[in-house]
Amino acid sequence: MLSTMQDVPLTVSRILRHGMTIHGKSLITTWTGQEAPHRRTFAEAGERATRLARALRDELGIDGDQRVATLMWNNAEHVEAYFAIPSMGAVLHTLNLRLPAEQLVWIVNHAADRVVIVNGTLLPLLAPLLPHLPTIEHIVVSGPGDRALLADSDAQVHEYEELIAAHPAEFDWPELDERSAAAMCYTSGTTGDPKGVVYSHRSIYLHSMQVNMRESMGLDDRDTALVVVPQFHVNAWGLPHAVFMTGIGLLMPDRFLQPAPLAEMIERERPSYAAAVPTIWQGLLAEVTANPRDISSMKNVTIGGAACPPALMDAYDKLGVRLCHAWGMTETSPLGTMAHPPAGLAQEEERSYRLTQGRLPTGVEARLAGPTGEILPWDGRSAGELEVRGPWIAGAYYGGAGGEELRPADKFSADGWLKTGDVGVIAPDGYLTLTDRAKDVIKSGGEWISSVELENALMAHPEVAEAAVVAVPDEKWGERPLATVVLKDGASADYEKLRAFLAERIAKWQLPERWAVVPAVPKTSVGKFDKKVIRKQYADGELDVTSL
Ligand code: ADP
Repeated sequence: MLSTMQDVPLTVSRILRHGMTIHGKSLITTWTGQEAPHRRTFAEAGERATRLARALRDELGIDGDQRVATLMWNNAEHVEAYFAIPSMGAVLHTLNLRLPAEQLVWIVNHAADRVVIVNGTLLPLLAPLLPHLPTIEHIVVSGPGDRALLADSDAQVHEYEELIAAHPAEFDWPELDERSAAAMCYTSGTTGDPKGVVYSHRSIYLHSMQVNMRESMGLDDRDTALVVVPQFHVNAWGLPHAVFMTGIGLLMPDRFLQPAPLAEMIERERPSYAAAVPTIWQGLLAEVTANPRDISSMKNVTIGGAACPPALMDAYDKLGVRLCHAWGMTETSPLGTMAHPPAGLAQEEERSYRLTQGRLPTGVEARLAGPTGEILPWDGRSAGELEVRGPWIAGAYYGGAGGEELRPADKFSADGWLKTGDVGVIAPDGYLTLTDRAKDVIKSGGEWISSVELENALMAHPEVAEAAVVAVPDEKWGERPLATVVLKDGASADYEKLRAFLAERIAKWQLPERWAVVPAVPKTSVGKFDKKVIRKQYADGELDVTSL
């Protein structure tokens, strides 16, 4: 028997219509550097998104599920693109502006993007790529920047403001199949070609509802969210969609992502919430320690994308800023787990819950697979590879125009679960603790050493600013850890002292023998430690390694 309920598709246009009417007065604030910040209401942004969709359809000829790319910072115009493109039935393709040129070219060609909307300040990045991007027919430029860079382009060039002004704020949004493609994002391709994850209207709608739940980001219209996580990094963790459901104000940093302008932004605009990877919070902490600013408005901060060092959480606690640890992936939209502790715990126990990767929400089922694929118990001890499934979890990768969906066996189980490549344990109450990425674990004489555990212990040392640990080949043990350390200003390298500090926290056989001080830890395009680069630096003899 079928239900008697209405079958209304869960589409992005419904989120848009809701946000621009019910929460029409909520604000998107975009930082502009020296001048006053730019403010636009949800009603205005929604109206402009509608004009943009009309322009894309009537003037640029975008139809069906054609791809429209964005190469943009976090700003109001990018939010407009987020709603205009999927609502008309086309597919939003956010381009990661920190990728190497050849990867960007590969991705645009693979997705066959027809249009790119670009911030003027990013034209120096786009212009040299254009000869290699035959599918791009139109370039829409928003904001200041040197248009002369596009003089040789074969594609037609449009001004964003002129384009949208020439079209009416009316669009009869189509009733789309909720399972159809709304947006796509490529993983950063640390191994092999990048892989395209295609989000559906339904997955975005359901994910946005989860973001708004108290067990996740839990925001409402009294909040203002500072979205530091880039809009090209997994839909800015779902925040632009989620805020249109609940009316949370957005504070967008545009290209001002360095610690000093971020600190100023927070002091002046007083956001109550913020989201970013640990590297950003490390940088901000160093900044406000050196040049004090009042960042105490930020009561609630989501930190994820990489493990949160305990010392970082403790330091922010002292500033009255509560970090909430979250785990997710491009393939999981990204919300997987969030570490809100159960109520009523004493402080130490609460802290240990907050340092886990967090608790599974209803929409994410998880299991742990052992070395031979056997399913392990949730006992808080049995470690295996995390596998997940749910309505906002990828079941395949995009195979290209006309291509098959891709389901590589190392990423999807035979029964359709996503293999995350993350290794960890799950407690009986559903809290996940990750020990490492499978490819970063150090396999020493048949035992596993967690690189993250060593890094966290090192970063608790008062003279260490950052630390990254990687596996290096070892004749006797197969692999051993190499510790690379960034020292705080004025500190000097005393490896024996650091090793003794670790020995109080870590089993002796796990302590690194090889050490190197580095000026900075190399970072990936989304600001995570790039261990592949460190391993290569070691192999190429570029590090000044001391063996103890
Ligand atoms: P990339 O693989 O390029 O880093 P993603 O942003 O999709 O792209 O990264 C997802 C991965 O990031 C996860 O599989 C996991 O290894 C890591 N990760 C995300 N959040 C956390 C966290 N809270 N703790 C530890 N690792 C995390």
